[in-house]
Amino acid sequence: MTEATSLIQGFRRQEQQEIPFDKEEEPPSSSLHLETHIWSNDVRATQRHPALIIPFNGKRTPRTSLKTKIFRRQFYPEVSDKQWNDWHWQVTNRIRTADQIRKFIMLSAEEQAALDSFTAKLPMAITPYYMSLISAYDADNPLRRSVVPTINEFISTPEEADDPLGEEHQSPVPGLVHRYPDRVLLLALDFCSTYCRYCTRSRVVGHGALHPARSRLEKAFDYIRANPQIRDVLVSGGDPLTMSDERLNWILTNLRNIPHVEIVRVGTKVPAVLPQRITPQLVRMLRRHHPLMMSLHFTHPDECTPESYRACAMLADAGIPLGSQTVLLAGINDNVETMRDLVHGLLKMRVRPYYLYQCDPISGSSHFRTPIEKGLDIIRGLRGFTSGYAIPTYVIDAPGGGGKIPVMPDYVEGREGCDLVLRNYEGNLFRYPAYRSEDGAPSVFVPMTHAEA
Ligand code: SF4
Repeated sequence: MTEATSLIQGFRRQEQQEIPFDKEEEPPSSSLHLETHIWSNDVRATQRHPALIIPFNGKRTPRTSLKTKIFRRQFYPEVSDKQWNDWHWQVTNRIRTADQIRKFIMLSAEEQAALDSFTAKLPMAITPYYMSLISAYDADNPLRRSVVPTINEFISTPEEADDPLGEEHQSPVPGLVHRYPDRVLLLALDFCSTYCRYCTRSRVVGHGALHPARSRLEKAFDYIRANPQIRDVLVSGGDPLTMSDERLNWILTNLRNIPHVEIVRVGTKVPAVLPQRITPQLVRMLRRHHPLMMSLHFTHPDECTPESYRACAMLADAGIPLGSQTVLLAGINDNVETMRDLVHGLLKMRVRPYYLYQCDPISGSSHFRTPIEKGLDIIRGLRGFTSGYAIPTYVIDAPGGGGKIPVMPDYVEGREGCDLVLRNYEGNLFRYPAYRSEDGAPSVFVPMTHAEA
């Protein structure tokens, strides 16, 4: 802590800047105004007990969780339902400064030190809705750790880099990454409603350099048009769903008008941090652009709220396949029980757990990274113990731009005679007649590594 504190003393204090959008280009600007509030016992009590709060089993799903209701009563008594459920209001009233966040949570020494000397690459921003899910008193609360900066993010280790995936070297035009032959990543903007402290693109997001401006995006469309092998475009950022319906519609229409673009995907964390954004108008617009898919970003079962449930239901009802990409994070979701609750919560929200990412070695992320064995243990703890649909593919995004590489627990033990020797989820051995005798089958057991050689 002493070393960490001294590390940051050299940083220059500066105001964190965000994207100055044109008025017609959402999202709305943030307000620094916030009323002062006083703690109450009911908020403390509720926030000590985070839980998976989707009611099911035939009961009517309420529109909001009890935790959020109590939080609103305490901190936003004057705010109407209409305002609270308006995504513009949520974005405008994001919590962005140390003074603001102190009204909601008791800062730990590590958080305090980070906020007092806040010069991080990534700004802080938390929607009031997401703040309602965060513990006021427990600095180890998973959602809190994922969005409230700590001094640890100022400590970089030698293996880390600002752009570990080498995206800058695979970017033929600004904001377009062409890594795989048949698909591209289009960074539509660098704005998010809530900033994740482990963001792979913290070198870009929140800096105000990538606008959803027509001139820049048209260059990206030109590149895609000129490369007929591109059949799949992932629109990401930043968070594309923080743009206005009109701007997003314009982007999707341009992509749809390129004959060889077969599918479009949108990457977003909005259903978890700003579910109010999923409006009937947005959904009506999105469904005009099928085949359209969405990669959602959920991290912890506490994000599976009635609000998120409703947002995902609206998207799923519009025929949009939903998959979740989850980053494996130390102390947040790095155990089988938490991950099982998350994947079960996601399936109940009609979201297929898609990828479990090993945390990228971005600068200042060592406190979030886990050993690979943790990820393998989690997959081992899910496979066979729950529905196959609930099990994500565990991947490492190879540093330097190698792409996603699946990492799997080894269930193949080796070969003996004509049999492949397999170990099941309970640890029992089974044989499968995989070979014919004319294959020159070994008469003794050969472990898989040798058998492959
Ligand atoms: S929502 Fe995505 S892009 Fe935005 S800060 Fe989080 S991880 Fe980064």
